[in-house]
Order: sequence, then C-alpha cells, then structure tokens
Amino acid sequence: MTADLARAGSDPRPGFPLRPELRGIEPYGAPQLDVPVLLNVNENPYPPSDRVVADIAGAVAEAARGLNRYPDRDFDALRADLATYLLRESGVTLRPEQIWAANGSNEVMLHLLQAFGGPGRTALSFAPTYSMYPEYARDTATAWIAGRRAADFTLDPDEVVAEIERHVPSVILLASPNNPTGTALRPASIAGVLAAADGVPGGCVVVVDEAYGEFRRAGTPSALELLADHPNLAVSRTMSKAFGLAGARVGYLAAAPALIDALRVVRLPYHLSAVTQAVARAALAHSTELMAQVGSLRAERDVTVTWLRDRGLTVPDTDANFVLFGMFDDRHAIWQGLLDRGVLIRETGPEGWLRVSIGTPAEMAAFKDALVEVAGL
Ligand SMILES: *Cc1c(COP(=O)(O)O)cnc(C)c1O
Repeated sequence: MTADLARAGSDPRPGFPLRPELRGIEPYGAPQLDVPVLLNVNENPYPPSDRVVADIAGAVAEAARGLNRYPDRDFDALRADLATYLLRESGVTLRPEQIWAANGSNEVMLHLLQAFGGPGRTALSFAPTYSMYPEYARDTATAWIAGRRAADFTLDPDEVVAEIERHVPSVILLASPNNPTGTALRPASIAGVLAAADGVPGGCVVVVDEAYGEFRRAGTPSALELLADHPNLAVSRTMSKAFGLAGARVGYLAAAPALIDALRVVRLPYHLSAVTQAVARAALAHSTELMAQVGSLRAERDVTVTWLRDRGLTVPDTDANFVLFGMFDDRHAIWQGLLDRGVLIRETGPEGWLRVSIGTPAEMAAFKDALVEVAGL
C-alpha cells in the first residue's frame, strides 16, 4: 500500500469525497501484537489437530481443481452440513433453506442490515455490547441507538419495551452470550423482545448473535429453539470461536426461509469462495473432536471465574469463552502491566473492567501469575 492510500481513511486530502461520517475514523480492530500469551480476541487457543489439517488440505486441493469456475453461489452442501451440526449441537431441526452463511458472522450481520436497515431506519441494541454493531449501522446508513443494559448486564424488560416504542427500530441486535460481559439472555428476556418487536409497525427483525453459543453453561438454552414460532427472528453463529476457525472466516445464521431470501438479494454474487466452503465442510466433519475441546475450555472458564472471585474481584456470570473482571481504578495500568509480562488481554467494556479470553491451562497460569504481581492480589 502506498503511504497516500494508507493515510486516506483517516486523513483525506481536501476534496477527497469521503462520506462525512467516516472522516477521522480509525479502522476497527484490537491490537495485533507479537506477545507469548494472546488472550485478547476470544479465539480458541488450540490449533486444528493434524487430522483436521490433513482433511482441510485435501478438501482445498480438491476445490483447487475447479477454481477456473465460480463457486456454488448458494453453497447448498455447506448449508446442509451446518443444519446437521446445529441439530447435534442444539437439538433443533433446521432445513438447509433456513441457513445462511458468509465470510464471518460480521458479514452475515452486514447482510442483515443491508436488507432490513438503511436510510430512514433504525437499529437498536443494548450496551455494553459488541463494538462492531454501530459500524454495521453506519456502513449501511442505518440510524444507531444503544439502550442500556441493567447493572448486572441483563436486559430490563421495561427498558426494552420503552426503547422499542420510542425508536421503532427495523432491526434489534442482541448478543447472547454478550460480548464483552459474557451474559446470556434468559429465554423470557428474548421472548419479551420478540413480543415488543411484533408490535413495531412495518415489522422488526430480531437478531440474536450467538457467536459464543457453544460455550453456554448447562441449562442455558439457545435462541434456535424459538425459531419455529418467530419468522422475524435470526440466530447468528460463527466458526471463529468455539470451532477454532477464526482464520477461515465463516459465519452463519438460522432463520425462516423468507428472511433468508431477503439476504440472498443483498449478498455479492459468489461471496463465499469455493476454498472457504471446502474448508468449512472439512472442519464440520470433525465437529465431535472440536466440541470435546469446548468442554475443556468451559471448565477452564469456570475455574478462572472462581479464582478471580476468590481474590476479591467482581466477575459477572459468563456463558462465553471469556471473563469480564474488575473493577480497577486504573484499568489501563493493569492491562499494561500484564502486557509487560507477555500477557495480552483486552481493555474493553465499561470503565474499570478488563476482559480475558480463556486460553490453555499454561496460558491461564501465566495470566494469573502476572495479575497477582500487577494487581497485588
Ligand atoms: C467474535 C464475534 C463475532 C464473530 O465474528 P466473525 O466475523 O464470525 O469472526 C460476532 N459477534 C460477536 C459478539 C463476537 O464477539
């Protein structure tokens, strides 16, 4: 990239017709630093096993033989595999026509806002939540409203109804488990949002972002169970977190076929490459092995929560593969102290809190040792 191009996003030359709302905006992204212990972006710490790598390599070689042709635009085989996986994971039966996929759930979410947001329309969420949501709204010229979550980071039903009535959104985005707090929404909360959304004139799509769904604790149901009764509900998932495939960029959602038909209108033709489809299908064939790993990450998560609470820190209940903990008068100093000891976590969420992703037992030991030193626990 030339220096001029690199600068263009943040420092446009006079007359450069950048949209006014993009002027001076830095591209989103956590720092990508070269540090021994990376616990900052909620990745799965375990790389794919040799067997998974071999199968992915074979599937990519096979796909390479056909790369002179455009890929299957509707990725039917991948949709069928994802439906099979969701049945095993959540016990919910879905048809391939109820599945949509794209390059990460970030792109899935962008498709949703392209189809159901847009100029003159509003997207609503409840903060603190995923920091990308306002960016999808901005990029699709959708107005953005962030209501507040309760002090324990759950949704207050009265607040939800009031915000929906006040802003008349066409899209509501709810992360469950929520990033950065780890909070899963109770089915009654989601049902309350769906009921209020049904009252929106012109209709309202409710998106439950279950990027961390596989990490939910026993007894926490998936919103997939509500799909059969709610044609305006979309439940989004990703292969980036539990599945350990962040580098492949595969996200997907489940919804009524009519909702998915709307997404097919706004996607770019052939948006999911033949290589991506091959990689995702090869990995899905190993879902049993990958799900076993999720079990150990969940256990490590619960141990980490107890350890932090035992040292007097506040930790909201978490159904994800990360833990929010606090509160610190100077969280930046704690974050920096950990980084100085080779442990990168995330300075995110409301003032005073920090977020750590669950890594391997050795990585969590390094995190704990560093935190004891830095915070004097
Ligand atoms: C990580 C994350 C995603 C997933 O992003 P991908 O584009 O699928 O990698 C989606 N939603 C939330 C809340 C996340 O934290």
